[in-house]
Amino acid sequence: MPPNPQNVDHAEIAKFEALAARWWDQKSEFKPLHDINPLRLKFIDERTQLKGKTVLDVGCGGGILTEAMAQQGAQVTGIDMGEAPLGVARLHLHESGQSVNYEKCTAEDMAKRQPASFDVVTCMELLEHVPDPGSTIAACAQLVRPNGHVFFSTINRNPKSWLFAIVGAEYMLQLLPKGTHRYSNFVRPAELEADTRHSGLDMKEMTGMHYNPLLDHYSLGPGVDVNYIAYCTRPDE
Ligand code: SAH
Repeated sequence: MPPNPQNVDHAEIAKFEALAARWWDQKSEFKPLHDINPLRLKFIDERTQLKGKTVLDVGCGGGILTEAMAQQGAQVTGIDMGEAPLGVARLHLHESGQSVNYEKCTAEDMAKRQPASFDVVTCMELLEHVPDPGSTIAACAQLVRPNGHVFFSTINRNPKSWLFAIVGAEYMLQLLPKGTHRYSNFVRPAELEADTRHSGLDMKEMTGMHYNPLLDHYSLGPGVDVNYIAYCTRPDE
């Protein structure tokens, strides 16, 4: 039996539970997620044409990306292990008029129940919060249908990412609460690439997500040394 069979770090969940009420406040701790959302939505939509697709958003939190994908015409399910973020996500549907199916579930459990059932699986800013990212990646690979698309975003692990993502974002610019991220949980692109390959996915693309603090502006582009987003496909059987 692995040390953490559910692959859930309850201390990590507790951090998000505590902040959940402010999830949709664009000036809160969640500002970075709001700011990057149009970029990642465009990245996903350009590669999958979301309209009419079935999508699973793993670790959906308060639903910032989840709802945006529903708004594009996808049929979206969001799963998370935090009660409070899911509560906020469900409440926000009343405000937005969107329709999303939210459930408290891990990717691993969902993969047992509904393997190969989604056209698109997104797993954003989650891998750096779980004990075993390889297990989450394998579950995402099982959840997507053959010829389907899987997206991950996370933070690289090197001295620059420590300086930018922890010292810069949490201590100097205070974009995120101190303690949001643990350096040892960050995921190198080579590790993500190896885990996706072992799970049977083809890695198609990795691109950097960059923040310019002077302009308070985010952009996608070459350079995966801090935040990055990856696009994989599941080959036909
Ligand atoms: N994906 C969202 C939220 C990222 S915050 C976005 O990018 O907008 C990370 C989320 O992962 C939190 O809501 C937290 O509750 C959730 N989480 C952490 N560990 C999890 C696990 N093992 N399974 C499912 N969700 C988890």
